[in-house]
Amino acid sequence: MGKVLGIIGGGQLGMMLTEAAQNLEAISKIIVLDPTKNCPAAKVGAQQIIADFKDEDAIRKLSEVSDIITYEIESGNSDVLKKLEVYTEINPSPDTLRIIQDKLLKKQFLKDNDIAIAEFAKIENKAELNQMIDEMGLPVLLKTRRDAYDGRGNYKINSKSEIDDALDLFSGKALMVEKFVKFEKEVSVIAARNTKGEIATYPVVENIHESNILRTTIAPGRVSENVKKQAEKIAEKTMEVLHGAGVFGIEMFVTQDEVVLINEIAPRVHNSGHHTLQSCDTSQFEQHLRAILGMNLGDSSIRYPTIMYNILGPSTFQGEYNVLCKKSKNIHLKMYGKIESKPQRKIGHVNIVDKENLGMDELFNQIEDLKKNLVVEPKQT
Ligand code: AMP
Repeated sequence: MGKVLGIIGGGQLGMMLTEAAQNLEAISKIIVLDPTKNCPAAKVGAQQIIADFKDEDAIRKLSEVSDIITYEIESGNSDVLKKLEVYTEINPSPDTLRIIQDKLLKKQFLKDNDIAIAEFAKIENKAELNQMIDEMGLPVLLKTRRDAYDGRGNYKINSKSEIDDALDLFSGKALMVEKFVKFEKEVSVIAARNTKGEIATYPVVENIHESNILRTTIAPGRVSENVKKQAEKIAEKTMEVLHGAGVFGIEMFVTQDEVVLINEIAPRVHNSGHHTLQSCDTSQFEQHLRAILGMNLGDSSIRYPTIMYNILGPSTFQGEYNVLCKKSKNIHLKMYGKIESKPQRKIGHVNIVDKENLGMDELFNQIEDLKKNLVVEPKQT
């Protein structure tokens, strides 16, 4: 008899975890907690508890009906999860989640473990920010410590005249400041650690953001052997010190002189790992489940170079929609079943997969062609 898997969050990541779980004998049922009725995970067959991610009663209810709990969002209630971990297995552990949820604690944790990051400091008032700018030099990024994603919660300060605006924008929030890194590339490593401590990393990929939202992932990334080795080593070390079981998305900056610094760690499957659905034998979603169930980790090597392109809701409308996408045998379209498109909302992705050894240049040609022909339009009623 398989286990009942509880997932906090039933968006696209919960949906792809659900689909992977449905193929594993070790899991008999999937229940997601999500506030949106008929969320993407429910649409593909997960049962759903409809409630806010932080709702203590709902999380308790989920733990009562689950053998093991995981999450697809990092903004869950780590205090409640901490109380429940004595009754229900929770992975990654609530302690790890608590550190990762707070950008300052996370950076301090990495620093304490000798993992390279940009210079940072806690900020409690204007005088401290002024002093740190004097020490770090401009520009700097003022960041909210919690509940920030897709660049929301970051303010780039280019001159001291912007300090008041930056502090006003984040008034009442816990803050930190970080030295601005003049990076050449943003890369990431999807890393897994199972409950027995076995670690596997996927090859480093290259990420291109538009307006702070991930738009394109190139797998494998076009980086030197030196950067590849550094990034994978940093990811492995991070997994060792975090003691977390599960898949983690580790985002890094690469500078012109090939210094690799961690920017972010997500304690969950990650958008920059969606290529693994077609490029690898073991997708990041299956790997996450293998990790938290204590199974042996699957092969994480890239068999087919792949470019992943996120489909975002256009800025021109909000509402029900149709997607028109070019069809071809190496184009894999994955829509997330979201009823409404909203500006910049992730509604699906495309993987363009090179199974025929066409080479990266051809994949880039194909992705440019796809972009020209991809249409998200309002649904005609
Ligand atoms: P974050 O919200 O920390 O994940 O950052 C969102 C994006 O802001 C990153 O993908 C980078 O493009 C940029 N960013 C964040 N921190 C820094 C930094 N210290 N220096 C330069 N760019 C940054």
